[in-house]
Amino acid sequence: MEDPLPPNDPGYTPGCTEPDSLDLPDQETRVFCPYCGSEVLVLLDPGGATRQEYVEDCEVCCRPWHLTVSWDRDGHAVVEARTEED
Ligand SMILES: [Zn+2]
Repeated sequence: MEDPLPPNDPGYTPGCTEPDSLDLPDQETRVFCPYCGSEVLVLLDPGGATRQEYVEDCEVCCRPWHLTVSWDRDGHAVVEARTEED
């Protein structure tokens, strides 16, 4: 017989999963600019297509990212930012 882990088990890391946002698709995510390397918050549109490709300018260096956004089954956004050359 194993005892279930207590909810405040020290091995539990809060912040990894937030119960409030568990069922909601990501509305924003952080992307590293492929040009200048800055981490920039990007707003997403989870109500749109499950896979989206569009161009968004970097807030920091203003160069155009080619973004590919998709959502996995858990509602987590998978975002890829590429340069124009790729
Ligand atoms: Zn940039």
